[in-house]
Amino acid sequence: MFADVILPLPLHAIFTYAVPAGMQEKIGTGLRVVVPFGRRKYYTAIVKAVHGNAPANMKVKEIHSLIDSHAVVNEPQLTLWEWISFYYMAPLGDVYKAALPSSMKPEDLLTRFTPKTGTFIQVNPSLDEGTVAGLLGRAKKQQQLMDEIGHYLVTNQKERLSKSELSAFACYTPSVFNGLLQKEILLTLSLETGRIATGLRPTRDPYPLNEHQQKALTQLNHCFVEKQTTLLHGVTSSGKTEIYIHLIRQMMAQGRQTLYLLPEIALTTQLTQRLQAVFGDQIGIYHSRINDNERTEIWQKMLSENPYSIILGVRSSIFLPFQKLGLVIVDEEHETSYKQQEPAPRYHARDAAIMLSLFHDAKTLLGSATPSIESFYNAQTGKYGLVTLSERFNGMMMPRIQLVNTRDLRMRKKMKTLLAPALIEEIEAALAVGEQVILFRNRRGFAPMIECSNCAWTPRCSRCDVSLTYHKKGNQLVCHYCNSHYRLPTACPSCHEESLKPLGLGTEQLEEEVAQLFPGSVVARMDMDSTRGKDAYERIITGFQEKKIQILVGTQMLSKGLDFDNVRVVGIITADSLLNYPDFRSHERGFQLMTQAAGRSGRKNRQGVVIIQSADPGQEVYSFVTRNNYDAFFRRQLAERKMFNYPPFCRLIRVVLKHKEERKVEAAAALLAEILRKTMKERLLGPNKPIVGRIQLFHIRELLLKLENGLSPQKVRDTLKNGEEVLRHNPQLKYVTLYYDVDPL
Ligand code: ADP
Ligand code: ZN
Ligand code: ZN
Repeated sequence: MFADVILPLPLHAIFTYAVPAGMQEKIGTGLRVVVPFGRRKYYTAIVKAVHGNAPANMKVKEIHSLIDSHAVVNEPQLTLWEWISFYYMAPLGDVYKAALPSSMKPEDLLTRFTPKTGTFIQVNPSLDEGTVAGLLGRAKKQQQLMDEIGHYLVTNQKERLSKSELSAFACYTPSVFNGLLQKEILLTLSLETGRIATGLRPTRDPYPLNEHQQKALTQLNHCFVEKQTTLLHGVTSSGKTEIYIHLIRQMMAQGRQTLYLLPEIALTTQLTQRLQAVFGDQIGIYHSRINDNERTEIWQKMLSENPYSIILGVRSSIFLPFQKLGLVIVDEEHETSYKQQEPAPRYHARDAAIMLSLFHDAKTLLGSATPSIESFYNAQTGKYGLVTLSERFNGMMMPRIQLVNTRDLRMRKKMKTLLAPALIEEIEAALAVGEQVILFRNRRGFAPMIECSNCAWTPRCSRCDVSLTYHKKGNQLVCHYCNSHYRLPTACPSCHEESLKPLGLGTEQLEEEVAQLFPGSVVARMDMDSTRGKDAYERIITGFQEKKIQILVGTQMLSKGLDFDNVRVVGIITADSLLNYPDFRSHERGFQLMTQAAGRSGRKNRQGVVIIQSADPGQEVYSFVTRNNYDAFFRRQLAERKMFNYPPFCRLIRVVLKHKEERKVEAAAALLAEILRKTMKERLLGPNKPIVGRIQLFHIRELLLKLENGLSPQKVRDTLKNGEEVLRHNPQLKYVTLYYDVDPL
């Protein structure tokens, strides 16, 4: 008997091992085994299949040991792994590595998951009242303590006391306790407690839906009859989340699970509380800030007889073992953080979720106020269902969006600060009545660049081809690509003049200036720098919610799904920088970010105001934003995509090559391009040096494949693999790193 196993290594191959006699009854697909691999190394592998076919002409090694008695990975999961490995051209071993929590696949076999236990005190259940009374005899203190413990357990509806609860009886000396333990009236016991909170009870029913929401829900259910995937296009604050809650309830009534995907951690706090209020501990939370042991516990619970009904999680939660998945909700489906960038597998969690759902015969709901061009196109062409919700909840008005021409204001000497006079006026008006303000700037740090005003020297990272960002805090220069920190020189190293000047504007500087402009208000900043510490993010959000902070300055972190009810003014500072990336998606990103940011403003009974500061307000995309016209924006984008042949009219694969020696990566890219061009012809673009041509000492070159829809993916993959083979057999170039980014963002 043989077993094909997947190893947690960046390998495409499946390896076959012999199953020892004593293990044959117990082994099966989805179980973990320990296998020898390479010299003296053992790994935790997953059994993919068990069969009787001896591999030809090779000696097979034996499985060392079996870890599980039940599968920890189910069939739909394995199917998903294979799909991801094939579609994203990533080694199956890398998919396995990404899928399982580390402590479930220990490499040194010592760092196993350890269950968390706690010590508890319990009244001996085998003693009746009379026996207890007899045992207590005339020991007064012991009698009193027993009375108090009994009372405590009854009033708190508990069966036993945890160690920390003993402090409630601190007035009794240890000898009183010990006496009761010796008489075995009280027992100590050690129990597995788990790291995840349980026992959380729902505190409210779902809100009844209003007529628009109800109509949307009916339409969604209708769409799901025919379509596996449906897009809910609902403006910001239209109450999409409440509709999701009702759908989840429907699923639970059918005994099926829901996976609720979010783009990133920043969104979870508010939403978690909202869902826990309705679903209590039926909901499991799976995101990057929970530790590995907690992940393992969630995984185990999902395998158990009593799994979570709902998982709220970031992209990696698609890998959890769902037993009866009925629905996947992909909230803010347009968000780019759904795409994994590094390391492999470079999968898109939205697209992988649609496949996961398919493998479970479940439904997928994509939700967004600003759908991606790809998804909206799929909805328009009938591949997905489409439901639209265009009213904000509770009659809240859409904000008034005003564009301010900062170039014009500068020429007329009206821009005295970073904020246009119109924005300052609106802020003052809001603050005067206790309403709040959000200001966006898409660059963190104090200034994106430092320049010598004498000789134009700029400091650059020694490991990457980028200029360094100045951070006033700590007076440092920071590389935003590799996070290297440098001290700011006092004089220019090139001309020795003391003439280094910050150029451009980051959130740090904006915060400083805003604090000076509005000295009576509390200003806080939210970006990657200010939210590093544990709970820092929650503290800022809570502070803002409780109105302890009046003005919040931050990066796009702020634009994401947060729900504040007292924000009157939203300002977008130097909006042009959102649009000027040399990327075919830059206007899509800009539209989404501005519309989402604008969506943070508005409150019941009063219209919010959004001010967009631009030096080039004639750009068409601004008119779509100010008129809140997604459809016109979509048509315009689609026409451009068609004209220049970009997705959804074709598929892209980026081929990335990296090496520390520039001439090697250059030669490898040229060689690969030459081979691929033979079959791919004009579908192949490049090699190109990307804008940032070197990161962390590695020089980078890229090839881009533009593949017409309908071209066989298998053929494309074969061609690429052939090219890769040639490279691997070239003695000079075989160590050049090569990877694929399928559907790059
Ligand atoms: P979206 O997800 O579309 O941005 P939300 O679901 O967050 O919108 O709804 C916006 C606000 O309106 C939230 O504070 C939410 O609690 C409230 N809300 C939405 N629908 C209802 C409802 N049917 N009953 C009561 N409050 C609702
Ligand atoms: Zn200089
Ligand atoms: Zn760097």
